[in-house]
Amino acid sequence: CRQSDNDNETIEQIDEDIAVTQSQMNFICPITQMEMKKPVRNKVCGHTYEEDAILKIIQNRKQQKKKVRCPKIGCSHVDVKESDLVPDEALKRAIDSQNKQRWSTLDKSDAATKEICY
Ligand SMILES: [Zn+2]
Repeated sequence: CRQSDNDNETIEQIDEDIAVTQSQMNFICPITQMEMKKPVRNKVCGHTYEEDAILKIIQNRKQQKKKVRCPKIGCSHVDVKESDLVPDEALKRAIDSQNKQRWSTLDKSDAATKEICY
């Protein structure tokens, strides 16, 4: 029981680490470097940002009468407008479900261990 249990656990943990690292990349706002709570997508270049963060930048630049460069590294879009931003519901759902999954995966592996060993 213990031997096979340990093997399973190791494989699961590695898989999970890779999955989390990969998906988190897309969930991280290029401005705040944090997971987005209200992601908005730029219709022009397709990048997503945290809504509050990008709006703050747009407002600051507007006061200086300057154009807003897309904060995503490597993006050549240099005229980000508030009207080009649309709420990214699909991404928001993905973030929400990943957060839920993270917890339910922990619950499940706990339950599975108990089930096998008792
Ligand atoms: Zn961009």
